Amino acid sequence: MPLPPFDNAFLRELPGDPETGPRLRQVHGALYSRVEPTPVPAPRVLAWSDELAAALGLGPGELAGGDFARVFGGNALSPGMQPWAANYGGHQFGVWAGQLGDGRAISLGEVVDAAGRRWELQLKGAGPTPYSRGADGRAVLRSSIREFLCSEAMHHLGIPTTRALCLLATGEGVVRDPRYDGHPREEPGAIVCRAAPSFIRFGSFELPSSRNDTVLLRQLADFTIRRDFPHLRGQGEPLYGDWFGEVCERTAAMVAGWMRVGFVHGVMNTDNMSILGLTLDYGPYGWIDDFDPEWTPNTTDAYRRRYRYGQQPDVAWWNLARLAGAQAPLFGDTAPLQAGLDRYAAAWAAADRANVAAKLGLAACRDEDVALMQSLHALMRQAEVDMTLWFRGLADLDPAAPALDALHEAFYDDAKRRAAERALRDWLQRYAARLIDDPLPAEERRTRMRAANPRYVLRNYLAQQVIERAEQGDCAGIHELLDVLRRPYDDQPGREAFARRRPDWARDKPGCSMLSCSS
Ligand code: AMP
Ligand code: MG
Repeated sequence: MPLPPFDNAFLRELPGDPETGPRLRQVHGALYSRVEPTPVPAPRVLAWSDELAAALGLGPGELAGGDFARVFGGNALSPGMQPWAANYGGHQFGVWAGQLGDGRAISLGEVVDAAGRRWELQLKGAGPTPYSRGADGRAVLRSSIREFLCSEAMHHLGIPTTRALCLLATGEGVVRDPRYDGHPREEPGAIVCRAAPSFIRFGSFELPSSRNDTVLLRQLADFTIRRDFPHLRGQGEPLYGDWFGEVCERTAAMVAGWMRVGFVHGVMNTDNMSILGLTLDYGPYGWIDDFDPEWTPNTTDAYRRRYRYGQQPDVAWWNLARLAGAQAPLFGDTAPLQAGLDRYAAAWAAADRANVAAKLGLAACRDEDVALMQSLHALMRQAEVDMTLWFRGLADLDPAAPALDALHEAFYDDAKRRAAERALRDWLQRYAARLIDDPLPAEERRTRMRAANPRYVLRNYLAQQVIERAEQGDCAGIHELLDVLRRPYDDQPGREAFARRRPDWARDKPGCSMLSCSS
């Protein structure tokens, strides 16, 4: 199977664990352990990303062939592959968790595609590693479908993310207790091949730092800058400071993307924060249906709601502060780290205002527009208004005659709608007056709004429907949904069903509104 040439820089340039294989252990002084995927009984390709496959020079013929399934199911290695599991730590739900590492992800290597882009190819669910901490190293079909679809959906929305090359069934059962209620069941196992220029996380720096291993910390920092931030110039502390500042700005851009489209990551632990500012680790994530800044899909976090939608920008800052703490040994003076965190605050504030302007279709965000958006958010919450449908519908509003009726599809509850109707009509009047006062021509406004407010997002219930079909052996739904999500900002005639608000039956159904970490 012809893959682009491998260039396994992470392995070549950084220290690894002298012991190989999956025996559970604490690994000191090393950033990875060599371990091979554990073969599966019957690897079968269920879906792939056409775009990423094309970037890697893989055509449908190769993807459908047995070689591909064997390699990406973990049963064989292609020339140049040198599998490893990465060693990292992390803060989980605000608490330092020590060594975590890739417990079920095994990287195969780094390829460089024809366009010169680097892709680390990583199998998630490929079997035990030294970091599996007593778990099985496998993944179930439902969570693998969710990771596969959402990675690609996020990419097509234009938000930085790791990618997914393909989804495979393993032909093996995996036992999980999806609701953590003492009812384990056997589910179909699966593997996703993820791809990203790097899977290095905040926690990759936190672990050596927590062990006072400044030599290893510095090696990783120098390597990351060299391989992944080659445009940065200079050396020593000024270089580290510029780098940290750029990580902060990229993180702000990523979170601003999430906030714009209503994405809730669900587990923003520092081991799930990419040093490249990519959305990483799709677990119990969710998409806002009825607008509610307090909402999180993650049942494990249902009480404290640390990772709720509205808190994501603050959590990102907190995580960056942990990264700053981890990098402090590289600095004599922490002022550059503080300056980086300030860059985050400034970048997030600017991006938030840009979101207001883009979502409301304004040439620029004035101070009073922030208040206008805030009052809209309060009303949307009170009236249970669908975020995606509302903002998409707003692009068609006639400022000369702003009609609430045109937005009727966005409401979930008649009584709540009636209770808020007057206030919503008043808001629409204020908004219409603001539009008349704005220099953007009507057509340009509409174009901009439609480019900022997607029509199609990976609604939780849509993913769940596709999962239930796939568990019955019918994968057509995965392909169809992936195809819809390829053009999230376009109206796609005939595909209106994928743009509808969450149906009533899905309101409290597990998988549709709540998810556990079981995966
Ligand atoms: P996550 O919440 O998915 O980011 O996972 C947190 C940590 O648990 C990571 O170190 C994972 O590699 C590990 N982990 C999660 N599920 C499994 C599993 N089934 N087998 C081994 N390790 C796992
Ligand atoms: Mg993780």
